[in-house]
Amino acid sequence: MVAIASVVENTCGFKSLISELYHIVFFGKCRCSELNWLSFSHGEKILNGSQLYTYTVCNVGEHEQDNWLRTTFIQRRPSASRVFVELQFIVRDCNSFDGSSLTCKETFNLFSSESDADIGTSFRKGQFKKVATIAPDEITSRNELRINTETRVVESLSRKGFYLAFQDIGACMALLSVRVYYKTCPATVKSLAAFPETVAGGGVNQALREVAGACAKNAVSEESPRIYCTMDGEWVVPVGQCQCMPGYEAVNDTCRDCQPGFFKAFVSNDACELCPVNTKQLSSGALLCLCAEDFYRAPDDPTTGPCSGLPSAPRELVATTTQLAAGKLQLSWSPPEDTGGRSDISYSVECRRCEGTACQPCGEKVRLEPASSGLMDTRVEVSELEPHLNYTFTVEAHSGVSLFASQGAPRSNRPPSTSTLTTALHYTDPPKVTSMRLDERSLTSLSLSWAVAPRRPMPQSTRYKLTYRKKDDNLDVTTYTVLILEKSSVQISDLSPGTAYLFRVQALSPEGSPGGSSIEDEFETLTEGKEDGHISAVGGAAMLMIVVVVLLIRKRSATNSFPPPQPLPLKTYVDPHTYEDPNMAILKFASEIHPSHVTKQKVIGAGEFGEVYRGILKAPGRKEGAVAIKTLKPGYSEKQRQDFLSEASIMGQFSHQNIIRLEGVVTKFKHAMIVTEYMENGALDKYLKDRDGEMPSFQLVGMMHGIAAGMKYLSDMSYVHRDLAARNILVNNNLECKVSDFGLSRVLEDDPEGTYTTSGGKIPIRWTAPEAIAYRKFTSASDVWSFGIVMWEVMAFGERPYWDMSNCEVMKAINEAFRLPAPMDCPSAVYQLMLQCWLQDRSKRPRFPDIVSLLDKLLRSPESLKAIADFDPRVSIRLPSTSGSDGSPFRSVSEWLESIKMSQYSENFTCAGVVTMDQVLQMKNVDIKNIGVRLPGHLKRIAYSILGLKDQTSTLSVFAV
Ligand code: AMP
Repeated sequence: MVAIASVVENTCGFKSLISELYHIVFFGKCRCSELNWLSFSHGEKILNGSQLYTYTVCNVGEHEQDNWLRTTFIQRRPSASRVFVELQFIVRDCNSFDGSSLTCKETFNLFSSESDADIGTSFRKGQFKKVATIAPDEITSRNELRINTETRVVESLSRKGFYLAFQDIGACMALLSVRVYYKTCPATVKSLAAFPETVAGGGVNQALREVAGACAKNAVSEESPRIYCTMDGEWVVPVGQCQCMPGYEAVNDTCRDCQPGFFKAFVSNDACELCPVNTKQLSSGALLCLCAEDFYRAPDDPTTGPCSGLPSAPRELVATTTQLAAGKLQLSWSPPEDTGGRSDISYSVECRRCEGTACQPCGEKVRLEPASSGLMDTRVEVSELEPHLNYTFTVEAHSGVSLFASQGAPRSNRPPSTSTLTTALHYTDPPKVTSMRLDERSLTSLSLSWAVAPRRPMPQSTRYKLTYRKKDDNLDVTTYTVLILEKSSVQISDLSPGTAYLFRVQALSPEGSPGGSSIEDEFETLTEGKEDGHISAVGGAAMLMIVVVVLLIRKRSATNSFPPPQPLPLKTYVDPHTYEDPNMAILKFASEIHPSHVTKQKVIGAGEFGEVYRGILKAPGRKEGAVAIKTLKPGYSEKQRQDFLSEASIMGQFSHQNIIRLEGVVTKFKHAMIVTEYMENGALDKYLKDRDGEMPSFQLVGMMHGIAAGMKYLSDMSYVHRDLAARNILVNNNLECKVSDFGLSRVLEDDPEGTYTTSGGKIPIRWTAPEAIAYRKFTSASDVWSFGIVMWEVMAFGERPYWDMSNCEVMKAINEAFRLPAPMDCPSAVYQLMLQCWLQDRSKRPRFPDIVSLLDKLLRSPESLKAIADFDPRVSIRLPSTSGSDGSPFRSVSEWLESIKMSQYSENFTCAGVVTMDQVLQMKNVDIKNIGVRLPGHLKRIAYSILGLKDQTSTLSVFAV
């Protein structure tokens, strides 16, 4: 309620009472005052101890009274079209006048008149409209004063202001106060909407006024909020609710940020909810709680729900042979211990076939039933397996978040989701030999064959041990001959005529141990003059004899006198130089190919003698296949041609899985060529550089094992390589590594790493053992040193050994007993082996057979690769990480990234606003991750380099052994 005018008790009487607001002006024909109203500024009346000042009129004895009292101009607030007029007055009881009250009245009239301007004292009755006749509720008697209060409404006001006037028509009355006011609905906030103070009631004759509101800060509403203000100044019927925006909750008519650890995802007036499990506790105002590290939401998971981790690995993976003969086994496992909080666990099974350390996918040869992926059950039936081959089965547990987690999200301490099992279908015993028979005989030879008990599938190749001796019971010392055969038949020559021989044949297991069941028989050569008609010449039948061991054994019992099998001796490498005519060596060791059978397709490299091509070899009687073709440039000398072809005469002597295989040579035509098997992945150093940090240690150690196996083969053949380095190892599609580069002059001419030493030779210093550098003592032990460097190159993903130290610095450091430090993430056992390879005393270095069996052991128990060698980033990425190439600090982020070979991330740094080295130094691991470096190897390289940058005090001497 707002008062426009009020007339209350005041010391100066009625007129002056309202002088503060509006003057009341008298009009009329009264003598004593303009309109017969009297101002009792002095005639005070006392009511309950208070003094009253009034305008009075009391002409009760006179006829035709028409006394007027008018207020001053009352200005109206534009929206206040309805005002209340509250009057306090006294009316005297007409009966209290004796006799003279014939014309006495007990009422008076209230009038109003609208105007746009103050018209001063001009007064015209005709301008006023009657509002009401005012009658007292209580009239005042002679002795008792009664004050009445009456309120009337003046409606439909539309002009700038108005006047009120009081008409007395013969009453005896006093006006004590006039209060003029209008009503408002007060400013308010209802349902998160704020409404301004509003004048009550609508326009002319409208009871309600519609008022638009505004949503509070951080609140919104679909419909704009409204409310109605009644004539009585009350708010009614709010329409259109405001609700707090995501991240805010309603508290005391405001929207407040969700507290840390709480979130609100939607527009609503709900309270913020506690962040679900496995989420990050974000700061206040969270719309959602992001998953904590290593926890994820599947695309179908509600964004407001909990996050789940990846399942841990399936447990207790076992293989049970179900039908050996049908090549069947069953894999079964138990569900993962930790399902990551999900129930949608499924499994996939990967089968790889391993020969040695080289593994390749089993492909469609092997059947997995019911399926290889999407398995809900914890078992799978595997069939069509070949016996004696190692199969590695990897069972991976998946859940709804697996796919999501693999999309570049970092793996930190997450447990692996896979279980791996390597198994093979082994016949516990080799096939059983059931019968032996004599096929042919002569005076000096016997042709025998034997049968084995049929079974499915037959082992791929069974070897047999045939032992024979003369059937001479009387001899104390017996000579036995043992043959290891790859076929179930043999022709034995050089026997004595007319002599009985005892034969025993036994099948061997793939490992070479004899089977329990053997068969013995006795056959006799022909006696002179009694020859069989169909005897064939000695050696006419194909006898695949691996080895003949002649043993002299003292034995009394003739029937139980066969010796155990002996290890097979190996060939020795023949230096083509020992041939007077090198062409003879080529003829002996390499097969000639007609150039029309060779198609060159594409240049893949450049050798010392000419280009290297990828091509196709399509020779009669051979399977068509991809080959590498080394060519000899035109304009060569005869010496160069011989040097070029010498590589083939060396390579042609080798036959091993881990030595590059020679297919043949073209020597009889103008353009000499060496044709070898094609290695799809090219040189190992480049292969690794391209996959920096992306391959697990297990795989890297597998590659080393292959190289070591190749080197063992070479050392067994007494061949010293002299230039063993990752650049001279080739990698095929199955990631098998093969040793290559056998040219006689290769170290001298071919290898760009070759450096002339004081002794005149050209040596790849950083790969070469100190004794070989110092006095050209090249042995398998010096190859072992180089193998250690290759191991380092492999673990460091093709990093250059000793980085950009000069050869001179390298030699000096080695002489001072410094050794390369462990590469990042290098298993401790692997680094220990490297250090052993780099022992100064070559006799103490491990030999290749030791290295092969150690690596084999590590691969068989992957646990052994878990312990990681100490890695000191300051030395491992020493030079590039601490300063620019000239030793001064890096001038730019891109210069630094280039030095650590991480230039591919330049843009990520720039986009993230990291543009100065100072900013780089402030970065934490999580920042590096956040700018988009996802590969763990890269992440570490960058993080370690920053560590190194922070500590520039390190020196090379840190890696002293
Ligand atoms: P080389 O003269 O033996 O060092 O060969 C030069 C380059 O040719 C090597 O670095 C390889 O990139 C490539 N190369 C040589 N032999 C083969 C092969 N058998 N298969 C694939 N690439 C090869």
